[in-house]
Amino acid sequence: MYPVKSYATLGATQPLAPFDFSRRDLKPHDVLIDIRFCGICHTDIHQVRNEWGHSIYPMVPGHEITGLVSEVGNQVNTFKPGDKVGVGCMVDSCRTCPDCQEGLEQFCSHPIFTYNNYEKDGKTLAQGGYSTRIVVDDKFVLKIPQNLPLDAAAPLLCAGITTYSPLRHWKAGKGTNLGIIGLGGLGHMAVKIAKAMGAQVSVLSHSRKKEADAKRLGADHYYATSEPGTFEKLVKTFDLIICTVSVDLDWNQYLALLKRDGTMVILGAPPKAPTVSATSLIFGRHSLAGSLIGGIKETQQMLDFCGEHNIVSDIELIPIQKAQESYERIIKGDVKFRFVIDMSSLK
Ligand SMILES: [Zn+2]
Ligand SMILES: [Zn+2]
Repeated sequence: MYPVKSYATLGATQPLAPFDFSRRDLKPHDVLIDIRFCGICHTDIHQVRNEWGHSIYPMVPGHEITGLVSEVGNQVNTFKPGDKVGVGCMVDSCRTCPDCQEGLEQFCSHPIFTYNNYEKDGKTLAQGGYSTRIVVDDKFVLKIPQNLPLDAAAPLLCAGITTYSPLRHWKAGKGTNLGIIGLGGLGHMAVKIAKAMGAQVSVLSHSRKKEADAKRLGADHYYATSEPGTFEKLVKTFDLIICTVSVDLDWNQYLALLKRDGTMVILGAPPKAPTVSATSLIFGRHSLAGSLIGGIKETQQMLDFCGEHNIVSDIELIPIQKAQESYERIIKGDVKFRFVIDMSSLK
């Protein structure tokens, strides 16, 4: 067993606090990773606070993990000590169902998420990246391109793949008029990746507050949805709309912004189930769709793509002692655009 230092929460109303535990001994296909950085995803806050109702404690959150390989099992030949690697939202899956066979492990009925889950043995709690080390099966370890810094690359493991996957699936590229709703952790990655794919990118945000940031990140257009006339002006504009915010929207109003055969993709669940008029879909042959992270193969493709185009997240690096207060700032939208924990603050 490998002793590990971490920050964990012991219950929904408890603060994150220092917590010691052990990682499993290496099995033949396992990789031991010395964690250097971990991004803070909004999911961490939902899970820590039991907002989705299935939290297991003690919980070490974190699923945007980067670090260096420190040891490998005797059957591992794709990684060696010193390699730059990452771990995202999943650490295993059933591997036999049709989804797993196709490399779409995120849709497996028995995925093993990086934390708030049990490991494959069914009894060891899977613990996440707010920690000094992690043991992961080599099939679920990703290679980080040499040119990308480990700190700013960490958010690619969740925010990056969550936006890359729908952009690829719905074939964003040259000639695509893309709308991105929201400019937070996900939205800012969507802008960077979609621009690198060649799409024409518009950011739709509530106010003008983020306009300069959107332009700096590469957006071609910016629209404040609170301004009168914005929706009327944009009717039948977009081939694809990616919704990166988890708030209640007037879904029919947004569907009207799609061209014929356009699709609007939901990435995060809003509090209330979307109310959609059938005519918003029928007229214009529109689709309202969802998307969930991405498979392991696609996550590696995304990392290689980001390496080629030099894409990383815009981050604010913090010591782990500030993780708790960063949650409040994330809820207020007060971060450009992702907090990343420097794990050296824990050692
Ligand atoms: Zn996440
Ligand atoms: Zn499966």
